[in-house]
Amino acid sequence: MIKFKQMDNFREGHKIQTDNDLRKEFTILRHSEGNEWLQDVSNNVTKQAIKDLCIAYKNFFRKQNQKQPGYIKYASKKIAHYNRIGKSLTVYDMNGHPKFRSKKNGDFRFYQDNVKIQFTETHAKLESLAGSRRKNRQRLNWIRLAERNRIPVRAKYMNPRIAFDGERWWLSVGIQTTRHLKPLRRLSFACKKRRQARSEGIGIDLGIKDLAVISDTTKVGNINKTRAIRILKKKRRRLQRQVSRKYQMNKKGDSYCKTSNLIKSEKRLLRINHRLTNIRQNHIHQATTAIIKRKPSFVCLEALNVRGMMKNRYLSEKIQEQNLYEFRRQIEYKARWAKIPVVIADRWYPSSKTCVICGHVKKDLNLSERTYVCPVCGNVIDRDFQAALNLKYYGEAERMNSAS
Ligand SMILES: [Zn+2]
Repeated sequence: MIKFKQMDNFREGHKIQTDNDLRKEFTILRHSEGNEWLQDVSNNVTKQAIKDLCIAYKNFFRKQNQKQPGYIKYASKKIAHYNRIGKSLTVYDMNGHPKFRSKKNGDFRFYQDNVKIQFTETHAKLESLAGSRRKNRQRLNWIRLAERNRIPVRAKYMNPRIAFDGERWWLSVGIQTTRHLKPLRRLSFACKKRRQARSEGIGIDLGIKDLAVISDTTKVGNINKTRAIRILKKKRRRLQRQVSRKYQMNKKGDSYCKTSNLIKSEKRLLRINHRLTNIRQNHIHQATTAIIKRKPSFVCLEALNVRGMMKNRYLSEKIQEQNLYEFRRQIEYKARWAKIPVVIADRWYPSSKTCVICGHVKKDLNLSERTYVCPVCGNVIDRDFQAALNLKYYGEAERMNSAS
C-alpha cells in the first residue's frame, strides 16, 4: 500500500508523504475488514518499519532527482533477466528502489523501541516481546550470546534491531559510552610503543589480481583465489543445480511444492553463502587492521570507479567478490579510530598510468599490461606497485597543501 502511494507521488511529482501521515492511514487499514492479521504484531514494530521505509524512499527519490552522469535507470543484468523470463520492467525495478523483504525469503529484520533489553556477560534478555509474561517464559527468556563479553553490561541501549538471515538470529544495539572499546585501546597502545619510529604515509592500490598493493612493498592477496574459497564455490554450484532441479521436479502447473528435502538443500546453500561472505569479510578485516596497526602518518586510496569497472562483464563478478567498497569503508573507520588521516585521490588521477620516475602519462595503458615500461625514461616497474607509489606521493602533496 505504502509502496504504491509513494511511487504515485513520485510519478506525479508530489512530495513524498511523511511517516506520520502514513502511520495514521495504516491505523485505519489495521482496523478494516480482512486485515485482522496486521494486529498480530506490535504497534511499535510497524511504526518503525514505516519510518524505515520512508527513509528508504527519501533516499531513492533524492537519487532519482539528482541524475548523476552515467546514471542508468535499470541495471543491465535485470533487463537481460526480465527479457529471458518474459516479464516487463516496472518502476519498482528501478535502480535504488527499496527492496521488498519477504518473510518467506528468510531475510528480514524488525525493531522494537519499547523492548527492554538486558545484557550480562554471557546472556541477553528481551522483555515484553511476546506480550504477556506467561507467554514469554518459554521462548524468550535469557538467550545465550555466541560471543562473551562483547556488549557492555549496564549501558544505555539504543535502536535495538532484531534480524534473521535464514540461518541465525542477530540482535544489534547501539550504545553510548565514554569507555574506550577494545580495538581502540589496542591500537593506541601500539602507537605509544612506536612513537619515535612513526612510519611515513602509505598509498594503497586496490585491484583484482591482488586485493591491495601497498607502497611499503607489501601486498594483500586475493582471497577468492585460495583453495578454501574455490572448493566452497564448487560446492555451491552443485547445490544450486540440485535446488533448481528439485524445483523443476516438484513443479505443479504454476506453483511449486516445497518438499522437506528441498528445504534442507536450500538451508545448506544458505549456509555456504554465509560462510563465503564470512571468509571474505574476515580477510578484509584482518588486512585493514594490519595496515592501520603499522601506524602510517596517512593513508591514501584512490576513488573507486566501480560502476565503470562493472560494465565489463568478465570483471564485474570478480569485483563484487573482492568487495572493494568494504575495504575502503573499513580503512576509513579504523583510521578514524587510530586518528590517522585518510586521503582519497581524485577520481581522474591516473595513478597507474603515470611513470613514478619521470612523470610521463601513458594514455593507452591496457589492463593486461602488468608491467609498466616507460617509453621516456626506460623505467620498468610492476604496474600495481607503481600505482601505490604514485598514490603515496599524491597523498604527501595533498597533506602539504592542506597544511600550508
Ligand atoms: Zn618514465
